[in-house]
Amino acid sequence: MRKKIVAGNWKMNGSNELINTLLPQLAEVAETLSAEVLVCPPAPYLVSAKAHAGSSVLIGAQNCHDQPSGAYTGEISVGMLQELSVGYVLIGHSERRALFGETDAQVAAKVVAAVQADLIAVLCVGETLEERESGRTLDVVLSQVAAVTKVLSVTNWSNLVIAYEPVWAIGTGKTATSEQAQAVHAAIRAALAEQSADAAAQMPILYGGSVKADNASELFAQPDIDGALVGGASLDAKEFISICQQA
Ligand code: PGA
Repeated sequence: MRKKIVAGNWKMNGSNELINTLLPQLAEVAETLSAEVLVCPPAPYLVSAKAHAGSSVLIGAQNCHDQPSGAYTGEISVGMLQELSVGYVLIGHSERRALFGETDAQVAAKVVAAVQADLIAVLCVGETLEERESGRTLDVVLSQVAAVTKVLSVTNWSNLVIAYEPVWAIGTGKTATSEQAQAVHAAIRAALAEQSADAAAQMPILYGGSVKADNASELFAQPDIDGALVGGASLDAKEFISICQQA
């Protein structure tokens, strides 16, 4: 049985106040849940987030660089995350790809760097509306996944989580139907199984894109949906806790 994971991506949102209030409440509930709960606040809050999250809430970064150190102003290395005991990092979120020009090759290099530092990389993939409407969803998503799996050996897949996030569903209030999401999740798992059936069966594949308390349970009921990557709704303690409880 794969473990369920509910991850919150705060993006460039949050404050000391949100760290101080949301995380302790979440930590109390997370202790009682079987699903893993992960929160990814902006980098300046990682240390205080760890302090407020207790042992039941995992803390992750939203990005990292593939190089170990050097003249990369504004960037964060995987070694720094490791030193802070931040065990997870989102990589290749569609906003990173679209707004900051991250390519499949850069995303793959970041995943490899993160895994080599023994972090868990949450690889985000997903198609745009135009790609979906032109029937290219699986081409796009599977090639984003393959860019990583062709450079990351199967023995390291235990440090990988995949998040399928259709770009048209992110922050739009327009969730993929559970059938649409399930179809893509199943296709990702089938593609992984071509390399290793065992590793494919173990891979957590999360859905992201306008996940809310009132659509979570239907998504989580799908056989290949192993949890969620939640943006907007992760900033509201009550809403996020409710999503975690449904996983
Ligand atoms: P959303 O964002 O839940 O606000 O749609 C999801 C994400 O971008 O990870």
